[in-house]
Amino acid sequence: MEVTEVASGVWFAHTEVVNWVVLVEDGRVALVDCGYPGQAPLVDESVRRSGADPERIEALLLTHSHVDHTGSMPRLAALGARVLAGAAELPMLRGERVESATALDVALRAWRPRVLAWGLRVARLGGTQHPRVDDPVPVAPGEPLDVPHAPVPVPLPGHTSGHTAYHLPDAGVVITGDALVTGHSISPVSGPQAIDAFFHHDTRRLRATLPRLAELDADLVLPGHGPALSMPIAQAVAEALAR
Ligand SMILES: [Zn+2]
Repeated sequence: MEVTEVASGVWFAHTEVVNWVVLVEDGRVALVDCGYPGQAPLVDESVRRSGADPERIEALLLTHSHVDHTGSMPRLAALGARVLAGAAELPMLRGERVESATALDVALRAWRPRVLAWGLRVARLGGTQHPRVDDPVPVAPGEPLDVPHAPVPVPLPGHTSGHTAYHLPDAGVVITGDALVTGHSISPVSGPQAIDAFFHHDTRRLRATLPRLAELDADLVLPGHGPALSMPIAQAVAEALAR
């Protein structure tokens, strides 16, 4: 794991399988996404590296409900963190519905060597679980949240119905989740791209909504998978759509 302060009080935790972000300001701390269930010790370590206390995370913002982004969610909620996500994502977070690649989806593609290796690896990290919480709270699109760095939710449905990016206007940062990534364990290429289509609930809808990202004022992209990218978001979106 690499934990890097990419802007003042904005810490990017990058692992080979997934990323998350620690937001610290005036002694307050929040997270955007929280890795696989098996990455709980890394989540806590990343928060400590930012200088904050993992037991005092006030909010967990989620880009979406997939297990690689929600692994520590039940644990952090039990410690008192509010769980925030796009409204359409709440049924999945409560465990009422599932919108994700199944073990069968992965098995059908296991002839691809990268998929097989990835599938075995993430299974060990709890990748077949569906973490859930009772009372996630919906975010209002376009309204800054009362958490460190006042992230602004940007709905980007497609990967999942309630997938949401978070824009940090003051820092010029956008946290894109899985709507736009810069790499993935099963992808042979690096750079701005969409994730392999089989992970998406609705690929066509994702491509139609991605241009919303391009309108943001941001030149540092923090994706759900792959390294951080210093590039105007409009250019990153254009490159991803051109692939
Ligand atoms: Zn993901």
